Amino acid sequence: MGYVIGIDIGTGSTKAVAVNYVGKIIETSQVSYPILEPEPTFSEQEPEAIWHSFIKCIEGIINTLGDQPSAIVLGSAMHSLIPIDGEGKPLMNMITWADNRSALVAERVRRSQDGEILYEETGTPIHAMSPLCKILWLKENATSLFNQASRFVSIKEYIWFKLFGVYEVDFSIASATGLFNINRNEWNDRSLKVCGIRATQLSKAVPTDYRREGLQRGIADLLSIKTDTPFIVGASDGCLANLGSFAIESGTAALTIGTSGAIRVATHKPSINFRAMTFNYRLFDNVFISGGPINNGGIALKWYAESFLKISLASPSDYDKLLDAIDTTPAGSNGLIFLPYLLGERAPIWNSQASGAFFGIRNYHSQTHFTRAVIEGISMALYSIMNAMESSGLAITKVHVSGGFVHSEGWLQILADVFNKPIVLIHDEDASAIGATFLGLKVLGLIKEYSDLNTMERNIFLPKAENHAVYKLIFKVYQNLYEKLCDDMATLAQFRS
Ligand code: ADP
Repeated sequence: MGYVIGIDIGTGSTKAVAVNYVGKIIETSQVSYPILEPEPTFSEQEPEAIWHSFIKCIEGIINTLGDQPSAIVLGSAMHSLIPIDGEGKPLMNMITWADNRSALVAERVRRSQDGEILYEETGTPIHAMSPLCKILWLKENATSLFNQASRFVSIKEYIWFKLFGVYEVDFSIASATGLFNINRNEWNDRSLKVCGIRATQLSKAVPTDYRREGLQRGIADLLSIKTDTPFIVGASDGCLANLGSFAIESGTAALTIGTSGAIRVATHKPSINFRAMTFNYRLFDNVFISGGPINNGGIALKWYAESFLKISLASPSDYDKLLDAIDTTPAGSNGLIFLPYLLGERAPIWNSQASGAFFGIRNYHSQTHFTRAVIEGISMALYSIMNAMESSGLAITKVHVSGGFVHSEGWLQILADVFNKPIVLIHDEDASAIGATFLGLKVLGLIKEYSDLNTMERNIFLPKAENHAVYKLIFKVYQNLYEKLCDDMATLAQFRS
């Protein structure tokens, strides 16, 4: 039986999906690893733990299916950074997208005279998530480590080097570093100057359909595959999620809510909006993925459940128990509003000092109102990005969804009502890993067009006009609330330890 593996090296876990030659999922595997927080604003992971999970995921699929894969395609989270020495050894743990240590550095670069042009040239918002800001932080705050670093790589490059002994990075991951010129497909001189590194300290950038064969024997044995198995470099998780959820034509957005969240559309040219700092990441020659990310996706719900209600969300039934209540609570939670900015926020406000709030609390509000308000608040955070995208000329007619939240029909209906757009659920497996398999099928010549695969059944959630009317009013308060509280949030930020 012929099949292709797509593998998504995510923040919480690595997920692999195997599909047959017509894109049907035949096997999945997943291995989790922890996020380390050695200091309050730091977010790190051990590269070796991720490498072992990568091996286990592939092994898991091959051991179950028995046959060898026709290709393995890689996807990974964006913005990770590992400084490495001359022998390829990490000089520290990997810094993840969620790390906020370079918040002040980012603020400074964004306000500098280079800020706007750097954003336009690189397509990457100037924020602590960006490797550009992380490298500059290391230069200023960990100078001896910075000087020791012979290279700066992402987790995907780290794994690719283990497989093939070469440093190569796809255009998609490169275009999320703040160091890459998205129009010229080369490292961006201005960025290199700002963070004080040379292009030779970065990997060779290659297209997302670039393939390599010739694994070292020891590695092939570890993975239980043949040395001549083709590997395709692939793209970032965000870009692949658009591909995997059939959102690569204009008008169709892909929306993901996992730990964090994002909404993205495919465009033929970058969509520039310095105020909302929509990102523009390259997927193919003539396709950019444009949109905005939020910090506070499922992680905000998890905080609410664990810290507020003291219940754990370990299993699907825990989620069902908690979220059942949202169906019987009215839209707008009887005037209770949640600003979800527990981890600061990225798009469209780009404020790492922002904090969360419940507003409008009255004595008739009960736990179910709070639960629904949390879901509504996370949904409105994404809605505010969609508004910014539409005002930059990116029309959106429907939204294809992915991420862990798709298991809750109530949440999907709330999203439809907040957005006033049809919400389309195609599959509940990892859209990025699925997108990677689609790329593999195309590179192998097994499909002509991605649309050839677009025959799957779908579940559509249509907006309810009466609920959207409520959300229009509530959303106005939601936006005003942030504007009014913004300075006070900055004052409170100084009391964090
Ligand atoms: P990531 O890939 O970012 O680690 P996932 O895509 O696996 O995350 O999604 C995890 C999130 O999905 C959780 O934080 C939670 O908000 C949501 N989620 C997971 N399971 C369920 C469920 N059964 N019902 C509703 N939401 C869920």
